[in-house]
Amino acid sequence: MHLYEFVSKMLAPLNLAIVRRTTLDHVVGQLQSTQSQLGKQMPPGCSEHATEASLQAISEAYQGQVQAVQQNLLRHQIASKWNVVDFMQRERRKSAAFGPLQCPLCHHTAPLPEFKQMDSHCIFGGGILLRHQCPACDLVFGPEKMLGLSMQELTQDYEWHYQAYQEGDSTAQELRAFHALNPKRDGCYLNFGAGAWSRSVQMLRQEGWQVYAYEPHASASVGSEYSVQSKAALSGMRFDGIYSNNVLEHLRHPAEDLAYLRTLLNHGGTMAHATPCFEYLYEFTRFHLFFFLGRSQAVLAHRAGLTVREFIQDGEFMCSVLAPAES
Ligand SMILES: [Zn+2]
Repeated sequence: MHLYEFVSKMLAPLNLAIVRRTTLDHVVGQLQSTQSQLGKQMPPGCSEHATEASLQAISEAYQGQVQAVQQNLLRHQIASKWNVVDFMQRERRKSAAFGPLQCPLCHHTAPLPEFKQMDSHCIFGGGILLRHQCPACDLVFGPEKMLGLSMQELTQDYEWHYQAYQEGDSTAQELRAFHALNPKRDGCYLNFGAGAWSRSVQMLRQEGWQVYAYEPHASASVGSEYSVQSKAALSGMRFDGIYSNNVLEHLRHPAEDLAYLRTLLNHGGTMAHATPCFEYLYEFTRFHLFFFLGRSQAVLAHRAGLTVREFIQDGEFMCSVLAPAES
């Protein structure tokens, strides 16, 4: 491969191209000097492969840097987007008088000042986070700018986020949520919103449990024979228990989603949904849309045709065990 071609190939993932011939000559000159230095380090007898091998070495050395630059550009792009949105919201707030606000869970409607305002800031480049607490059911909801996104826009925001930031491993909490179901050895179970960063499904499978993972976001999914990506495929399955960890607060329509999950349960089946967002914790990310404080946990269950069978709280591990209301 010619060095000019090599430079273009390395820059392509960044959507960059060098158009000035003098700049390109300069970059290629630098690469040639690196290449000759690397060539000198080759053991004797390898000289005939020096060019190919050293290009490979340069390519590997630059790959990490290219990825780092790519991630920085993406983070910058995310922050810029939300800065513009924040600016526009500020301007709108100055000029417009606000009508009443409606709680997205219990639908209580009242003038804005009757809802307690909660302010935070997104540590993942999402700017100002303005949320409100419903005086009728205690739910904390928002930020408004995230709730206002279409499902496509929200998905796009997630895709960018997962390319620029990694999630922590929460396998231990996932396992606790699974065991809160009191699982039967011959039962079939689902980890809803499994993500790619925790290993509960792999671990439980190794222990002989029949567990599937559902993760609709392509960039957060690990492909395997027991992972389900499409809702159509999921709808054809039935489970004795469904568990999730750090998922409930991300759902755009949590009551509707839980009502849908209820239809996937076999008779006698239960759900266990764990999240620290049963309190106002981890509010520093724009992706946490709901905090199910106080009465709102029961309201959520009721609206989904479920009842709260048990609420487990051990420090930040909080888990709501739900069963269909009729059973
Ligand atoms: Zn409410």
